[in-house]
Amino acid sequence: MRFQLIHLAYFASSLLFIVGLRGLTRPEAARRGIILAGVGMLVAIIGTLVHQDIISYQWIIGGLIIGTVVGIPMGLWIPMTKMPERIALSHAFGGLAVALVGVAEYVRHAIMQGHITQFTMGALGFEVFFGTVTFTGSLMAFGKLQGVLSGRPQTFKGQNALTLAMLATCLALIVYLIFNPLPGFFYTVVGLGFLLGVLLVVPIGGADMPVVICLMNSYAGLAAAASGFALDNNILIICGALDGGSGFLLAVIMSKAMNRSFRNVMFGAFGQLEAAVSDGVQKSVKAFTVEDAAEFLKNASSVVVVPGYGMAVSQAQHAVHEMQELLEEKGIEVRYAIHPVAGRMPGHMNVLLAEANVPYDHLIEMDAINPSMPTVDVCLVIGANDVVNPAARTDKSSAIYGMPIIDADKSKMVFVLKRSMAAGFAGIDNPLFYLENTRMVFGDAKNTLHSLNAELKK
Ligand code: NDP
Repeated sequence: MRFQLIHLAYFASSLLFIVGLRGLTRPEAARRGIILAGVGMLVAIIGTLVHQDIISYQWIIGGLIIGTVVGIPMGLWIPMTKMPERIALSHAFGGLAVALVGVAEYVRHAIMQGHITQFTMGALGFEVFFGTVTFTGSLMAFGKLQGVLSGRPQTFKGQNALTLAMLATCLALIVYLIFNPLPGFFYTVVGLGFLLGVLLVVPIGGADMPVVICLMNSYAGLAAAASGFALDNNILIICGALDGGSGFLLAVIMSKAMNRSFRNVMFGAFGQLEAAVSDGVQKSVKAFTVEDAAEFLKNASSVVVVPGYGMAVSQAQHAVHEMQELLEEKGIEVRYAIHPVAGRMPGHMNVLLAEANVPYDHLIEMDAINPSMPTVDVCLVIGANDVVNPAARTDKSSAIYGMPIIDADKSKMVFVLKRSMAAGFAGIDNPLFYLENTRMVFGDAKNTLHSLNAELKK
Protein backbone atom coordinates (compact mmCIF):
# COMPACT_ATOMS: atom_id res chain seq x y z
CA MET A 1 0.00 0.00 0.00
CA ARG A 2 2.78 2.38 1.02
CA PHE A 3 4.69 1.46 -2.13
CA GLN A 4 1.68 2.28 -4.33
CA LEU A 5 1.16 5.56 -2.52
CA ILE A 6 4.75 6.61 -3.19
CA HIS A 7 4.49 5.76 -6.86
CA LEU A 8 1.18 7.54 -7.17
CA ALA A 9 2.75 10.62 -5.55
CA TYR A 10 5.73 10.42 -7.92
CA PHE A 11 3.45 10.05 -10.92
CA ALA A 12 1.37 13.06 -9.85
CA SER A 13 4.43 15.20 -9.21
CA SER A 14 5.98 14.23 -12.58
CA LEU A 15 2.80 15.37 -14.30
CA LEU A 16 2.80 18.60 -12.30
CA PHE A 17 6.45 19.25 -13.26
CA ILE A 18 5.79 18.68 -16.95
CA VAL A 19 2.63 20.83 -17.01
CA GLY A 20 4.46 23.47 -14.91
CA LEU A 21 7.40 23.54 -17.30
CA ARG A 22 5.02 23.84 -20.23
CA GLY A 23 3.42 26.85 -18.52
CA LEU A 24 6.80 28.57 -18.39
CA THR A 25 6.88 28.74 -22.17
CA ARG A 26 4.22 31.51 -22.22
CA PRO A 27 4.32 34.66 -20.05
CA GLU A 28 0.60 34.55 -19.25
CA ALA A 29 0.85 30.93 -18.02
CA ALA A 30 4.25 31.28 -16.29
CA ARG A 31 2.90 32.17 -12.85
CA ARG A 32 0.55 29.18 -12.85
CA GLY A 33 3.38 26.99 -14.17
CA ILE A 34 5.70 27.85 -11.32
CA ILE A 35 2.96 27.25 -8.73
CA LEU A 36 2.15 23.86 -10.27
CA ALA A 37 5.84 22.88 -10.25
CA GLY A 38 6.06 23.98 -6.59
CA VAL A 39 3.06 21.82 -5.69
CA GLY A 40 4.73 18.97 -7.63
CA MET A 41 7.82 19.34 -5.49
CA LEU A 42 5.73 19.26 -2.30
CA VAL A 43 3.94 16.09 -3.44
CA ALA A 44 7.30 14.48 -4.31
CA ILE A 45 8.73 15.34 -0.88
CA ILE A 46 5.67 13.97 0.93
CA GLY A 47 5.82 10.82 -1.20
CA THR A 48 9.49 10.34 -0.33
CA LEU A 49 8.90 10.91 3.37
CA VAL A 50 6.59 7.90 3.67
CA HIS A 51 9.29 5.60 2.23
CA GLN A 52 9.77 2.45 4.32
CA ASP A 53 13.57 2.81 4.22
CA ILE A 54 13.37 5.86 6.47
CA ILE A 55 13.82 4.69 10.03
CA SER A 56 14.58 8.00 11.69
CA TYR A 57 13.20 11.42 10.82
CA GLN A 58 15.55 13.44 13.04
CA TRP A 59 18.13 14.22 10.35
CA ILE A 60 15.47 14.92 7.77
CA ILE A 61 13.66 17.37 10.04
CA GLY A 62 17.01 19.01 10.87
CA GLY A 63 17.74 19.40 7.15
CA LEU A 64 14.25 20.77 6.47
CA ILE A 65 14.64 23.40 9.19
CA ILE A 66 18.11 24.49 8.03
CA GLY A 67 16.99 24.53 4.38
CA THR A 68 13.93 26.65 5.24
CA VAL A 69 15.93 29.05 7.41
CA VAL A 70 18.47 29.57 4.60
CA GLY A 71 16.01 29.41 1.68
CA ILE A 72 13.33 31.90 2.75
CA PRO A 73 15.68 34.90 3.24
CA MET A 74 17.49 33.93 0.02
CA GLY A 75 14.19 34.05 -1.87
CA LEU A 76 12.97 37.25 -0.22
CA TRP A 77 16.08 39.38 0.03
CA ILE A 78 18.23 38.57 -2.97
CA PRO A 79 17.36 41.18 -5.60
CA MET A 80 16.28 40.16 -9.09
CA THR A 81 19.50 41.68 -10.46
CA LYS A 82 21.52 39.11 -8.49
CA MET A 83 19.52 36.13 -9.80
CA PRO A 84 22.35 34.61 -11.91
CA GLU A 85 24.63 34.53 -8.84
CA ARG A 86 21.88 32.99 -6.72
CA ILE A 87 21.11 30.38 -9.37
CA ALA A 88 24.81 29.55 -9.68
CA LEU A 89 24.97 28.95 -5.91
CA SER A 90 21.83 26.78 -6.00
CA HIS A 91 23.35 24.65 -8.74
CA ALA A 92 26.60 24.37 -6.79
CA PHE A 93 24.82 23.07 -3.70
CA GLY A 94 22.54 20.84 -5.77
CA GLY A 95 25.60 19.30 -7.45
CA LEU A 96 27.35 18.83 -4.10
CA ALA A 97 24.26 17.21 -2.56
CA VAL A 98 23.97 14.73 -5.44
CA ALA A 99 27.71 13.95 -5.28
CA LEU A 100 27.51 13.35 -1.51
CA VAL A 101 24.52 11.02 -1.95
CA GLY A 102 26.59 9.17 -4.57
CA VAL A 103 29.55 8.79 -2.21
CA ALA A 104 27.25 7.64 0.63
CA GLU A 105 25.61 5.05 -1.63
CA TYR A 106 29.00 3.81 -2.80
CA VAL A 107 30.19 3.41 0.79
CA ARG A 108 26.95 1.64 1.77
CA HIS A 109 27.00 -0.87 -1.10
CA ALA A 110 30.62 -1.35 -2.14
CA ILE A 111 32.32 -0.97 1.23
CA MET A 112 29.86 -1.75 4.05
CA GLN A 113 27.84 -4.47 2.25
CA GLY A 114 30.81 -5.57 0.13
CA HIS A 115 28.65 -5.86 -3.01
CA ILE A 116 27.48 -3.43 -5.66
CA THR A 117 25.78 -4.30 -8.95
CA GLN A 118 27.41 -3.17 -12.16
CA PHE A 119 24.40 -1.05 -13.08
CA THR A 120 24.41 0.78 -9.72
CA MET A 121 28.16 1.32 -9.95
CA GLY A 122 27.89 2.82 -13.42
CA ALA A 123 25.07 5.13 -12.32
CA LEU A 124 27.01 6.18 -9.20
CA GLY A 125 30.10 6.90 -11.30
CA PHE A 126 28.18 9.33 -13.54
CA GLU A 127 26.34 10.76 -10.55
CA VAL A 128 29.48 11.78 -8.64
CA PHE A 129 31.18 12.92 -11.84
CA PHE A 130 28.41 15.32 -12.90
CA GLY A 131 27.72 16.32 -9.29
CA THR A 132 31.33 17.32 -8.57
CA VAL A 133 31.78 19.11 -11.94
CA THR A 134 28.57 21.05 -11.26
CA PHE A 135 29.71 21.99 -7.74
CA THR A 136 33.06 23.56 -8.56
CA GLY A 137 31.98 24.79 -12.02
CA SER A 138 29.01 26.66 -10.54
CA LEU A 139 31.17 28.10 -7.74
CA MET A 140 33.58 29.45 -10.38
CA ALA A 141 30.65 30.96 -12.31
CA PHE A 142 29.37 32.53 -9.08
CA GLY A 143 32.84 33.95 -8.32
CA LYS A 144 33.14 35.49 -11.78
CA LEU A 145 29.69 37.06 -11.71
CA GLN A 146 30.14 38.36 -8.18
CA GLY A 147 33.55 39.80 -9.04
CA VAL A 148 35.34 37.62 -6.44
CA LEU A 149 37.24 36.00 -9.32
CA SER A 150 38.58 37.84 -12.33
CA GLY A 151 36.09 37.93 -15.20
CA ARG A 152 39.00 37.54 -17.60
CA PRO A 153 39.45 34.12 -19.23
CA GLN A 154 42.24 32.31 -17.38
CA THR A 155 44.12 30.21 -19.87
CA PHE A 156 47.48 28.47 -20.04
CA LYS A 157 49.35 26.51 -22.65
CA GLY A 158 48.07 22.98 -23.16
CA GLN A 159 44.89 23.70 -21.22
CA ASN A 160 42.52 22.09 -23.71
CA ALA A 161 44.69 18.98 -23.96
CA LEU A 162 44.77 18.69 -20.15
CA THR A 163 41.01 19.15 -19.85
CA LEU A 164 40.34 16.55 -22.53
CA ALA A 165 42.82 14.11 -20.96
CA MET A 166 41.12 14.49 -17.57
CA LEU A 167 37.70 14.02 -19.13
CA ALA A 168 38.85 10.87 -20.92
CA THR A 169 40.47 9.55 -17.71
CA CYS A 170 37.23 10.07 -15.78
CA LEU A 171 35.17 8.23 -18.36
CA ALA A 172 37.71 5.38 -18.53
CA LEU A 173 37.72 5.12 -14.74
CA ILE A 174 33.92 4.98 -14.57
CA VAL A 175 33.92 2.13 -17.11
CA TYR A 176 36.67 0.35 -15.14
CA LEU A 177 34.75 0.82 -11.88
CA ILE A 178 31.76 -1.03 -13.33
CA PHE A 179 33.90 -4.17 -13.38
CA ASN A 180 36.21 -3.41 -10.42
CA PRO A 181 34.56 -1.06 -7.93
CA LEU A 182 37.79 -0.15 -6.12
CA PRO A 183 37.64 2.80 -3.69
CA GLY A 184 40.90 4.34 -4.99
CA PHE A 185 39.48 4.69 -8.50
CA PHE A 186 36.12 5.88 -7.25
CA TYR A 187 37.65 8.69 -5.20
CA THR A 188 39.91 9.59 -8.13
CA VAL A 189 36.76 10.24 -10.21
CA VAL A 190 35.45 12.43 -7.36
CA GLY A 191 38.71 14.41 -7.22
CA LEU A 192 39.02 14.77 -10.99
CA GLY A 193 35.38 15.90 -11.19
CA PHE A 194 36.07 18.74 -8.73
CA LEU A 195 39.15 19.77 -10.72
CA LEU A 196 37.39 19.55 -14.08
CA GLY A 197 34.62 21.87 -12.88
CA VAL A 198 37.27 24.51 -12.22
CA LEU A 199 39.17 23.87 -15.45
CA LEU A 200 36.04 23.99 -17.61
CA VAL A 201 34.87 27.37 -16.30
CA VAL A 202 37.97 29.49 -15.50
CA PRO A 203 38.90 29.82 -19.20
CA ILE A 204 35.51 31.33 -20.01
CA GLY A 205 35.08 35.12 -19.81
CA GLY A 206 32.65 36.70 -17.33
CA ALA A 207 30.39 37.87 -20.18
CA ASP A 208 29.67 34.25 -21.11
CA MET A 209 28.66 33.18 -17.59
CA PRO A 210 24.90 33.17 -18.34
CA VAL A 211 25.46 30.37 -20.85
CA VAL A 212 27.76 28.54 -18.42
CA ILE A 213 25.06 28.69 -15.74
CA CYS A 214 22.52 27.10 -18.10
CA LEU A 215 25.06 24.41 -18.87
CA MET A 216 25.63 23.80 -15.15
CA ASN A 217 21.86 23.53 -14.82
CA SER A 218 22.01 20.80 -17.40
CA TYR A 219 24.86 18.97 -15.63
CA ALA A 220 23.02 19.16 -12.30
CA GLY A 221 20.01 17.57 -14.03
CA LEU A 222 22.12 14.77 -15.49
CA ALA A 223 23.65 14.15 -12.04
CA ALA A 224 20.16 13.95 -10.51
CA ALA A 225 19.00 11.55 -13.26
CA ALA A 226 22.04 9.31 -12.67
CA SER A 227 21.24 9.43 -8.96
CA GLY A 228 17.69 8.31 -9.78
CA PHE A 229 19.07 5.25 -11.60
CA ALA A 230 21.40 4.47 -8.68
CA LEU A 231 18.63 4.80 -6.09
CA ASP A 232 15.95 3.29 -8.33
CA ASN A 233 13.91 6.47 -7.91
CA ASN A 234 11.66 7.40 -10.83
CA ILE A 235 10.98 10.97 -9.83
CA LEU A 236 14.70 11.76 -9.76
CA ILE A 237 15.12 10.25 -13.21
CA ILE A 238 12.19 12.25 -14.63
CA CYS A 239 13.13 15.56 -12.94
CA GLY A 240 16.79 15.09 -13.77
CA ALA A 241 16.01 14.45 -17.43
CA LEU A 242 13.70 17.50 -17.58
CA ASP A 243 16.31 19.66 -15.88
CA GLY A 244 19.18 18.31 -17.98
CA GLY A 245 17.25 18.68 -21.25
CA SER A 246 15.83 22.15 -20.58
CA GLY A 247 19.18 23.46 -19.25
CA PHE A 248 20.92 22.22 -22.37
CA LEU A 249 18.35 23.79 -24.71
CA LEU A 250 18.50 27.09 -22.82
CA ALA A 251 22.30 27.08 -23.08
CA VAL A 252 22.04 26.58 -26.85
CA ILE A 253 19.44 29.37 -27.20
CA MET A 254 21.51 31.76 -25.04
CA SER A 255 24.68 31.01 -27.03
CA LYS A 256 22.80 31.93 -30.18
CA ALA A 257 21.41 35.14 -28.65
CA MET A 258 24.89 36.21 -27.52
CA ASN A 259 26.54 34.95 -30.71
CA ARG A 260 28.86 32.64 -28.78
CA SER A 261 30.04 29.31 -30.10
CA PHE A 262 28.25 26.71 -27.98
CA ARG A 263 31.11 24.26 -28.44
CA ASN A 264 33.52 26.83 -27.04
CA VAL A 265 31.38 27.54 -24.01
CA MET A 266 31.04 23.82 -23.38
CA PHE A 267 34.69 23.03 -23.54
CA GLY A 268 36.09 26.35 -22.31
CA ALA A 269 39.37 28.10 -23.06
CA PHE A 270 37.88 30.20 -25.80
CA GLY A 271 35.94 32.97 -24.08
CA GLN A 272 37.22 36.46 -24.20
CA LEU A 273 36.71 39.53 -22.12
CA GLU A 274 35.80 42.85 -23.43
CA ALA A 275 38.14 45.38 -24.88
CA ALA A 276 38.90 48.86 -23.62
CA VAL A 277 35.99 51.07 -22.63
CA SER A 278 37.22 54.08 -24.53
CA ASP A 279 39.17 54.50 -27.72
CA GLY A 280 40.63 57.77 -26.41
CA VAL A 281 38.79 59.91 -28.93
CA GLN A 282 36.65 62.63 -27.34
CA LYS A 283 33.15 62.35 -28.72
CA SER A 284 30.22 64.53 -27.85
CA VAL A 285 26.68 63.53 -27.02
CA LYS A 286 23.49 65.57 -27.13
CA ALA A 287 21.57 65.72 -23.87
CA PHE A 288 17.86 66.36 -23.52
CA THR A 289 15.89 67.58 -20.53
CA VAL A 290 12.82 65.66 -19.43
CA GLU A 291 10.63 68.49 -20.76
CA ASP A 292 12.23 68.25 -24.25
CA ALA A 293 11.76 64.48 -24.25
CA ALA A 294 8.11 64.78 -23.18
CA GLU A 295 7.41 67.26 -25.97
CA PHE A 296 8.84 64.90 -28.56
CA LEU A 297 6.96 61.93 -27.17
CA LYS A 298 3.63 63.78 -27.27
CA ASN A 299 4.11 64.36 -30.99
CA ALA A 300 5.11 60.79 -31.84
CA SER A 301 2.72 58.28 -33.31
CA SER A 302 4.74 55.16 -32.54
CA VAL A 303 7.08 54.56 -29.60
CA VAL A 304 9.22 51.52 -28.84
CA VAL A 305 10.61 50.98 -25.34
CA VAL A 306 13.84 48.97 -25.06
CA PRO A 307 14.21 47.93 -21.43
CA GLY A 308 17.55 46.73 -20.04
CA TYR A 309 19.44 45.99 -16.88
CA GLY A 310 19.21 49.62 -15.67
CA MET A 311 15.40 49.39 -15.61
CA ALA A 312 15.77 46.44 -13.23
CA VAL A 313 18.31 48.31 -11.05
CA SER A 314 16.12 51.36 -10.68
CA GLN A 315 12.91 49.28 -10.46
CA ALA A 316 11.35 51.54 -13.08
CA GLN A 317 8.91 48.99 -14.51
CA HIS A 318 5.79 50.50 -12.88
CA ALA A 319 6.74 53.99 -14.03
CA VAL A 320 7.30 52.62 -17.55
CA HIS A 321 3.86 51.07 -17.55
CA GLU A 322 2.31 54.35 -16.38
CA MET A 323 4.10 56.17 -19.21
CA GLN A 324 2.80 53.60 -21.70
CA GLU A 325 -0.79 54.21 -20.54
CA LEU A 326 -0.37 57.99 -20.68
CA LEU A 327 0.94 57.78 -24.23
CA GLU A 328 -1.76 55.35 -25.30
CA GLU A 329 -4.40 57.76 -23.95
CA LYS A 330 -3.02 60.23 -26.48
CA GLY A 331 -3.45 57.66 -29.27
CA ILE A 332 0.27 56.83 -29.49
CA GLU A 333 1.19 53.22 -30.17
CA VAL A 334 3.62 51.82 -27.56
CA ARG A 335 5.48 48.52 -27.88
CA TYR A 336 8.31 46.95 -25.92
CA ALA A 337 11.31 45.41 -27.71
CA ILE A 338 12.59 42.42 -25.76
CA HIS A 339 16.15 41.24 -26.27
CA PRO A 340 16.75 37.64 -25.14
CA VAL A 341 19.72 38.57 -22.92
CA ALA A 342 18.60 42.00 -21.70
CA GLY A 343 19.10 42.29 -17.94
CA ARG A 344 20.90 39.60 -16.05
CA MET A 345 18.86 36.43 -16.53
CA PRO A 346 16.80 34.86 -19.30
CA GLY A 347 13.33 36.40 -19.32
CA HIS A 348 14.40 39.16 -16.89
CA MET A 349 12.52 41.92 -18.72
CA ASN A 350 9.41 39.78 -19.22
CA VAL A 351 9.28 39.06 -15.48
CA LEU A 352 9.65 42.73 -14.50
CA LEU A 353 7.13 44.02 -17.02
CA ALA A 354 4.66 41.27 -16.08
CA GLU A 355 5.06 42.36 -12.44
CA ALA A 356 4.01 45.87 -13.53
CA ASN A 357 1.00 44.40 -15.42
CA VAL A 358 2.22 45.41 -18.87
CA PRO A 359 -0.01 43.43 -21.30
CA TYR A 360 1.85 40.47 -22.81
CA ASP A 361 0.84 41.37 -26.34
CA HIS A 362 2.86 44.59 -26.04
CA LEU A 363 6.11 42.64 -25.60
CA ILE A 364 7.68 41.98 -28.99
CA GLU A 365 10.69 39.73 -29.47
CA MET A 366 13.82 41.21 -31.05
CA ASP A 367 13.50 39.43 -34.40
CA ALA A 368 9.86 40.44 -34.75
CA ILE A 369 10.33 44.14 -33.94
CA ASN A 370 13.59 44.87 -35.77
CA PRO A 371 12.12 45.09 -39.30
CA SER A 372 9.74 47.85 -38.13
CA MET A 373 12.36 49.95 -36.28
CA PRO A 374 12.97 52.40 -39.18
CA THR A 375 9.30 53.45 -38.99
CA VAL A 376 9.39 54.09 -35.23
CA ASP A 377 9.22 57.78 -34.22
CA VAL A 378 10.85 57.47 -30.80
CA CYS A 379 12.86 54.57 -29.42
CA LEU A 380 13.11 54.91 -25.65
CA VAL A 381 16.12 52.98 -24.37
CA ILE A 382 15.62 52.52 -20.62
CA GLY A 383 18.76 51.31 -18.83
CA ALA A 384 19.80 49.16 -21.78
CA ASN A 385 23.24 49.39 -23.30
CA ASP A 386 24.88 46.28 -24.80
CA VAL A 387 21.64 45.04 -26.35
CA VAL A 388 21.34 48.23 -28.46
CA ASN A 389 25.05 48.64 -29.26
CA PRO A 390 25.44 48.94 -33.07
CA ALA A 391 29.13 47.99 -32.72
CA ALA A 392 27.85 44.42 -32.54
CA ARG A 393 26.79 44.84 -36.18
CA THR A 394 29.65 46.88 -37.57
CA ASP A 395 32.84 46.69 -35.48
CA LYS A 396 34.71 43.44 -36.03
CA SER A 397 37.10 44.24 -33.19
CA SER A 398 34.27 44.66 -30.67
CA ALA A 399 33.91 42.07 -27.90
CA ILE A 400 30.22 41.77 -28.79
CA TYR A 401 30.65 41.67 -32.58
CA GLY A 402 28.06 39.33 -34.06
CA MET A 403 25.65 39.48 -31.11
CA PRO A 404 22.17 40.22 -32.48
CA ILE A 405 20.89 43.58 -31.19
CA ILE A 406 17.70 45.61 -31.18
CA ASP A 407 18.03 48.13 -34.01
CA ALA A 408 17.35 51.21 -31.85
CA ASP A 409 19.74 53.27 -33.99
CA LYS A 410 17.52 52.80 -37.03
CA SER A 411 14.52 54.54 -35.47
CA LYS A 412 13.84 58.21 -36.28
CA MET A 413 14.77 59.43 -32.78
CA VAL A 414 16.42 57.66 -29.84
CA PHE A 415 16.20 58.70 -26.18
CA VAL A 416 18.62 56.94 -23.85
CA LEU A 417 17.68 57.00 -20.17
CA LYS A 418 20.74 56.25 -18.02
CA ARG A 419 22.72 57.91 -15.27
CA SER A 420 26.05 58.53 -16.99
CA MET A 421 28.18 57.50 -19.95
CA ALA A 422 29.21 54.33 -18.09
CA ALA A 423 29.50 51.12 -20.06
CA GLY A 424 27.18 48.13 -19.69
CA PHE A 425 27.97 44.51 -18.80
CA ALA A 426 30.41 44.01 -21.69
CA GLY A 427 32.43 47.05 -20.56
CA ILE A 428 32.53 48.69 -24.01
CA ASP A 429 31.61 52.06 -25.42
CA ASN A 430 28.34 52.42 -27.32
CA PRO A 431 28.35 54.35 -30.65
CA LEU A 432 24.55 54.69 -30.39
CA PHE A 433 25.00 57.47 -27.82
CA TYR A 434 26.90 59.67 -30.29
CA LEU A 435 24.54 59.36 -33.26
CA GLU A 436 22.86 62.37 -34.81
CA ASN A 437 19.38 61.11 -33.89
CA THR A 438 20.23 60.18 -30.27
CA ARG A 439 19.49 62.26 -27.18
CA MET A 440 20.76 61.29 -23.73
CA VAL A 441 18.36 61.87 -20.83
CA PHE A 442 20.65 61.49 -17.83
CA GLY A 443 19.41 60.35 -14.42
CA ASP A 444 18.08 57.35 -12.56
CA ALA A 445 15.53 55.70 -14.87
CA LYS A 446 12.70 55.67 -12.32
CA ASN A 447 13.16 59.33 -11.36
CA THR A 448 13.38 60.37 -15.00
CA LEU A 449 10.22 58.44 -15.86
CA HIS A 450 8.33 59.92 -12.90
CA SER A 451 9.21 63.42 -14.12
CA LEU A 452 8.38 62.43 -17.69
CA ASN A 453 4.98 61.12 -16.61
CA ALA A 454 4.31 64.35 -14.74
CA GLU A 455 5.08 66.28 -17.94
CA LEU A 456 2.86 63.99 -20.02
CA LYS A 457 -0.02 64.58 -17.62
CA LYS A 458 0.19 68.36 -18.09
P1 NDP B 1 23.88 46.54 -19.78
O1 NDP B 1 24.45 45.84 -18.62
O2 NDP B 1 24.59 46.49 -21.07
O3 NDP B 1 23.69 48.10 -19.44
C1 NDP B 1 22.91 48.51 -18.39
C2 NDP B 1 22.95 50.02 -18.32
O4 NDP B 1 22.02 50.40 -17.35
C3 NDP B 1 24.30 50.57 -17.90
O5 NDP B 1 24.99 51.13 -18.98
C4 NDP B 1 23.95 51.59 -16.82
O6 NDP B 1 24.48 52.86 -17.16
C5 NDP B 1 22.43 51.64 -16.82
N1 NDP B 1 21.89 51.75 -15.46
C6 NDP B 1 22.28 51.14 -14.33
N2 NDP B 1 21.56 51.55 -13.30
C7 NDP B 1 20.68 52.46 -13.78
C8 NDP B 1 19.66 53.25 -13.19
N3 NDP B 1 19.39 53.22 -11.89
N4 NDP B 1 18.96 54.08 -14.00
C9 NDP B 1 19.21 54.17 -15.32
N5 NDP B 1 20.17 53.43 -15.93
C10 NDP B 1 20.89 52.59 -15.16
O7 NDP B 1 22.37 46.01 -19.92
P2 NDP B 1 21.61 45.34 -21.14
O8 NDP B 1 20.31 44.88 -20.57
O9 NDP B 1 21.61 46.25 -22.33
O10 NDP B 1 22.49 44.10 -21.56
C11 NDP B 1 22.61 42.95 -20.73
C12 NDP B 1 24.03 42.50 -20.69
O11 NDP B 1 24.17 41.57 -19.64
C13 NDP B 1 24.48 41.81 -21.97
O12 NDP B 1 25.84 42.09 -22.23
C14 NDP B 1 24.30 40.33 -21.62
O13 NDP B 1 25.13 39.51 -22.38
C15 NDP B 1 24.69 40.33 -20.16
N6 NDP B 1 24.13 39.27 -19.33
C16 NDP B 1 22.86 38.84 -19.58
C17 NDP B 1 22.31 37.87 -18.80
C18 NDP B 1 20.94 37.36 -19.10
O14 NDP B 1 20.68 36.18 -18.91
N7 NDP B 1 20.04 38.21 -19.53
C19 NDP B 1 23.04 37.30 -17.64
C20 NDP B 1 24.34 37.91 -17.41
C21 NDP B 1 24.85 38.85 -18.27
P3 NDP B 1 24.71 54.00 -16.04
O15 NDP B 1 25.58 53.38 -15.00
O16 NDP B 1 25.34 55.12 -16.79
O17 NDP B 1 23.36 54.38 -15.51
